[in-house]
Order: sequence, then C-alpha cells, then structure tokens
Amino acid sequence: MSAPRFLPHLPEETLAARQLAGVRRTVDQAMRNPVYRARLAAVGITSGADIASLDDVRRLPFTDVTDLRDGYPLPLLCVPERDVVRVHASSGTTGKRKILAYTRKDVETFALQMARCYELAGLTPEDRVQVAVGYGLWTAGAGFQLGSELFGALTVPVGPGNLDMQLQLLMDLKVTCLGATASMALLLAEEVERHGLRDRLALRKVIFGAEPHSLKMRRAFTEKLGLEAAYDIAGMTEMYGPGTGLNCEVGEGIHYWADLFLVEIIDPATLQPLPAGEVGEMVVTSLCKEAVPLVRYRTHDLTRLIPEPCPCGRAIPRHGHIRGRSDDMVIFRGVNIYPGQIADVLHAFPEAGGEYHIELTRSQGLDHMLLHVERATAAPADLDADLARRISDELHRRIMARIDVRLASPGSLPRTFSKAKRVTDLRLEDGERAG
Ligand code: AMP
Ligand code: ZN
Repeated sequence: MSAPRFLPHLPEETLAARQLAGVRRTVDQAMRNPVYRARLAAVGITSGADIASLDDVRRLPFTDVTDLRDGYPLPLLCVPERDVVRVHASSGTTGKRKILAYTRKDVETFALQMARCYELAGLTPEDRVQVAVGYGLWTAGAGFQLGSELFGALTVPVGPGNLDMQLQLLMDLKVTCLGATASMALLLAEEVERHGLRDRLALRKVIFGAEPHSLKMRRAFTEKLGLEAAYDIAGMTEMYGPGTGLNCEVGEGIHYWADLFLVEIIDPATLQPLPAGEVGEMVVTSLCKEAVPLVRYRTHDLTRLIPEPCPCGRAIPRHGHIRGRSDDMVIFRGVNIYPGQIADVLHAFPEAGGEYHIELTRSQGLDHMLLHVERATAAPADLDADLARRISDELHRRIMARIDVRLASPGSLPRTFSKAKRVTDLRLEDGERAG
C-alpha cells in the first residue's frame, strides 16, 4: 500500500494533546459570538486557556439544533460576515431548515475530509466517481465533488434521480465509484437488474451516505452489482457535510477524523457521559472550524465509540455505524423503539429484504404497530404467513413489543431519491401531531 496522501495518523500518544489544542482554539473562536460568549461565561469560561485538560470539555455547555435555528439566517457565526464564502443548509431530516456558514478554510477542510474518505475506500486518481447525491443547498453533492477533485479522480456530477442518465454515464464514462444515498443506490441497482446491464458497468465501489442503512442492504447491493465493496460514509451539515468518517476494508464501524472533531457519547436522557463502548448520543466539538465552530453539539445520532484498535492497523479512532437518531425513537406501548433495532432483527432473516416501513395507528385507545417488510427476491410468497409470524416473534423477543408484520413483494415499498422515511405515525389527530 502506498503512503497515505490525505489520511491522518493519529496515535493515542499524540492525539490527546492535539485535541486539547483544538478545543482551546474552538473556545477562543466561539468567544467571538455573543450567544456562545454568554453561555461560556455562565459556566466560568472566558477563553480557551480555561480548558486545562480534555476532561474539562465536560464543563462546556451543550449546543443543540435549536441554537442553530434560533439564530437564522447565520446562527452562531464566529467570523465577520465578509469572511464567509459559502453557505449550505441542512436537508431538514427533522424540522425547519438551518443554514451553516463556511470560510475559505472551512471549505478546504470540507474537501480534505472527503478526500480522506476516498483514500480510505482504496480509490486512486485513476478512479472515476459519479456523484448521485443532491447538489445545491445540501452539502452532499458539493462535498463528494470537492473531495473527489482534490483527491484527483475524474468526477461526474449528476445529482440525484434521473436513472436513465445515471446508467448512461456509468457505462459511457466507465465510472468505478458511485456516491449515493442507500435509497438512491437501491433504485439504481434495481434498474440495472431490470435491464440486465450489470456486465456493461465498470463500477467497483459504492459509497453510501446520508441515512441509516443496514449491512444487509450494503451486502445486497454489492452482490446485485458484483462490486468489490460498499462503504458507509458518515457526516452532517454541522460538521461541514458528508465525510466525517468511513468504514475501512476490514474493521467494524467508522474511522473518523479525530483531529477535526472530538466525539463524546452521552446518555440522551441524563446528558451524562456513558462508559466506553456503550451506545448513546454522539456529541461533537469541532477542532478547527472557523465560521461556525461546534461546542459540544448534540447530534442526536446514536452510536458508540469502538475502543479497540482496528485490525487494519490504521491509527485512526472509530465509532460505530449510526444506528438512527434519538429523535426518531417511537414510543410504542411504553417501549422505546428505534428503527435501527428493527433493521437489526430483520438482518437475521435471509428471506426478508432490507426495505421496511413502520406504521403506527391507534384504535380504541390502543396503539398498533404494523411493520411492512419486503420479501427477499429469492423467497417464495407462499411462505409469507410463516415468515411474518417468525419475524413478529423475534421482534417480541428482542424488543419486547408486539408488532404485526406484513410481507410485501420485492420493490413494492416506496422508494426515494434522497433519505428514506421509515416511520409513519398516524396515532395523533393532525392538530396534536408534534413538529
Ligand atoms: P444532513 O445534515 O441533512 O446531511 O443530515 C445529517 C444526518 O443524516 C446525520 O446527523 C445522521 O442522522 C444522518 N446520516 C448521515 N450519514 C449517515 C450514515 N452514514 N448513516 C446513518 N445516518 C446518517
Ligand atoms: Zn480499519
């Protein structure tokens, strides 16, 4: 393997000192914004020098999405407006749009974090990357493109949708790597199958991002298209955009750029740190963002830190794949359920496909949950009743909830070009429904 061009080397011995310097820099930067300044002053912090060790990070106040929305249009800005060269807005996974600002250096760091992902995915400048995620205000297209150009790969900026054009360009330009949401990639794979185009593609790798998807979905996709590998890319608008980390070829979880941001895992109910390795909410503090530094930003993403070194040997820390969001949790008959837990259960059933949808209804005061699951392509429909019962029993055993299961034909659940919506909650009258 040739020497890394973009990937960092972050051995434990030196990482903590680098991170501490980054946290101090971030606190100093945050002091330039009145909202941050008041919050920090309230806990007795007036400059980065007040942070004596990484443990002191726990003294810092949390920041949440409401802090970004309240400051619309340029929330938590810590540089003069003339230093802002770009804005992006989040796709609004939950609620209203929030706008994030970037300085020139922020845009460069954004490109770097994405270039690292391409390198970790084993690409070379000989590779050709087709970008099938959203462009414009959303960060995804810009990030995949910036990073690919910095990395030196030929970049094909198609954007989402338009399956015919996607396929045409994949074939004509002999594209070797596709960047897409899992939902979009699934649509493409089905299209390739339908038209029997697999042998006319040069595609070797796919980078899935933007939404939770199971290993099963990645595997199904890899097999359908005869790929070498499929990768899970993490990211969020608040931390520049996509590319905060990627899984490597051997290990579990996602290598993340611990020189660009610090990760804490907290219990979302008590806000206290969780023991190493436990699943909780990821909180991030950026270490070199300029325009909108993040101070203990609550991502609401559920994951864990993986303390063990990765079998790949790289000195780059890891967190687990993102299992869903704490705000996607549904409370069903008093049980807290995350869509990711359902995906985990389905993973154990080869007769079930990766696509599912949860529907919640209420009748006569009692909640009902119906799980629609697509049958795997090879599974016979006449065994549906038995399969539904076995899935339902397993859900009951693992999640402690009685969930009705209904099998659907492969490809029949709604598909989307962007992020899949896994839950429809019809339990409340319109007026009562939150958000
Ligand atoms: P946005 O800022 O609109 O791009 O949305 C970022 C959010 O999308 C994250 O906070 C996650 O909830 C979700 N997300 C992004 N990438 C992934 C991924 N690879 N797996 C699971 N969820 C993801
Ligand atoms: Zn690894």
